[in-house]
Amino acid sequence: MQINLDDTANIFNTLIEESPMPIALYIGENMVIQVANRAILKAWGRDASVIGQELALALPELKDQPFLEILNQVRTTGVAYEAKEDKVLLLNNNVLQTYYFDFIYKPLKDTDGNVWGILNNATDVTELVNAKFKVEQSEALFRKMIYDAPVAIGILRGRDLIIEDANDDLLKIWGKNKAVIGLKLLDGLPELIGQPFPDLLQEVYNSGVAHYGYETMARLERNGVLGDFYFNFVYDPIFGQDGQVSGIMVVANEVTAQVISKMEAAKSEERFRNFMYDIPMATAYYETENLIIRLANDEMLRFWGKDKSVIGKTVVEAIPELNVQPFVDILQEVYRTGIIYHADQEEARLIVDGKEQKRWFSFTYKPLKDADGQVYAIIHAAMDVTKQVQLQQQKDEFLGIASHELKTPVTSIKAYAQVLERMIRNEGDEKKANMVHKMDLQLNRLTGLIGDLLDVTKIQSGKMTFNPIEFDFDAAVEEIVEEMQHISSKHKIICGLASKAIVYADKERIGQVITNFLSNAIKYSTDAGEIDVTTFSQNGEIILSVKDYGIGISEDMQHLVFDQFYRVDGNLQHTYPGLGLGLYISAEIIKSEGGRIWVESTTGQGATFFFALKVKSFR
Ligand code: ADP
Repeated sequence: MQINLDDTANIFNTLIEESPMPIALYIGENMVIQVANRAILKAWGRDASVIGQELALALPELKDQPFLEILNQVRTTGVAYEAKEDKVLLLNNNVLQTYYFDFIYKPLKDTDGNVWGILNNATDVTELVNAKFKVEQSEALFRKMIYDAPVAIGILRGRDLIIEDANDDLLKIWGKNKAVIGLKLLDGLPELIGQPFPDLLQEVYNSGVAHYGYETMARLERNGVLGDFYFNFVYDPIFGQDGQVSGIMVVANEVTAQVISKMEAAKSEERFRNFMYDIPMATAYYETENLIIRLANDEMLRFWGKDKSVIGKTVVEAIPELNVQPFVDILQEVYRTGIIYHADQEEARLIVDGKEQKRWFSFTYKPLKDADGQVYAIIHAAMDVTKQVQLQQQKDEFLGIASHELKTPVTSIKAYAQVLERMIRNEGDEKKANMVHKMDLQLNRLTGLIGDLLDVTKIQSGKMTFNPIEFDFDAAVEEIVEEMQHISSKHKIICGLASKAIVYADKERIGQVITNFLSNAIKYSTDAGEIDVTTFSQNGEIILSVKDYGIGISEDMQHLVFDQFYRVDGNLQHTYPGLGLGLYISAEIIKSEGGRIWVESTTGQGATFFFALKVKSFR
């Protein structure tokens, strides 16, 4: 385009036309568009054809908007109108769109002061306003997030830490209400002065690095009372557009209840610890399947010959000599199964003062279980019974020597008595001969008692020997029954022998058990006339039973009859003589032969004694 620089009107026209700022000029009462530059046409979404038209007709979308009215006022009053970021709806490609303008309606007056036209000068600020909206929206969203957050959140602004925002949870934690918003933190919560938090906040402010606190105690005033509360919290720096810290976001989660219950647990653990240390019994406490020693009181350490350095080690590390003994396996079994283990007079070899010592303990391994029934620890309580065991051993030794020493003279007295009986009988003095015979029968009892005592000492010292042979079981039972039938003419022993089994065992010893069953059946059923003996085979075992119809054994005593020295109760002790050893010896014999022994009985209705042995083969 050729411009003649002398033509000022043309230059102004060009300036207006090319200005990036929208400009229009309306003339007269009807606001005829006299001038509309390219920028305003673009904003209107129109072309130059609107020039010369009335504004209301050219832009019909203005009809429901306030602008025509405002223009009218400017024209009649002669006062300019200025608006900032005003919303205008304009048709663009036939779609009504929202724009924002800073604009001026400036009345142009003639020399008489009459308004002849209005200059419309505008700046399109739509983008700016939209951006501002977005910021406001995201700020509103952020605030909403703070208020709705399920944790306590607040914003402290500026170096003075002005409380800009604090959601209800945070106010609740602080024990304050909305009145603190807008105050400096230390004015709103003066109780924080002297606590570490103000310094921590300044540190975050200075360094721009977040601070995390775990289970931290804060002294806060709630309902007018100062109290200790515990929190997990974050002080997170907020950066301004200049990259500098402009505030701090506080996020806090109160964990007072958890911390208190933890402290309670620690207290009760301490009480438990003290209890274990003070208990007069040797006690230790193991955790995990590896059996880590968590506690062991002085008494237990003394047993082990160790000091406190074993705490925290596994049992195997701490007491390596146990490795070749059964205890570690038993402990692990208790841990796995959750079944308590008791031991009575168990031998243990421990290295005390550098020397291996053989000691005996009675002890318990008790598993501790959590709410789900899972084992988490074992308590070990032990008593050193070495002295008692040694005394018992001395007593057993004495019994062994005494019964052995008694056996020889009694055996020769018996031989002499038999010879004497025969001689007197030959002399024809039946009365004297019968007296000597009675003496011989009493000697049999004496021999039996001495035999039992000897057997017991053999069992105690592990010296009972067995000479197994194969034998016909039913035939052996029959032999013994016949012998016993001779002794007691009062009872009829009825046999039902149907095992048909061959067993491999010490025939003498098994015979001893059957004899014991039968002599007990005779002894404890003085008022009855019958004893039933049966044998049968079942699941590869022979089972023998001896049933009597005598006094019986009460249920709570049945498990005791196989113990050493167990005897009938109270008054009956004198009615039924004995040492309480027969069934103990019988049980030891049957156990050594790999069998089972048991009793079934009801008081007053007799008893049935059983044993079971493995069948070798059948006849
Ligand atoms: P002893 O008969 O010498 O006392 P045992 O060891 O043979 O010793 O038996 C132990 C105890 O078992 C007896 O004292 C008695 O109380 C009880 N007992 C054994 N057999 C019977 C039975 N057949 N009927 C009732 N009680 C019995």
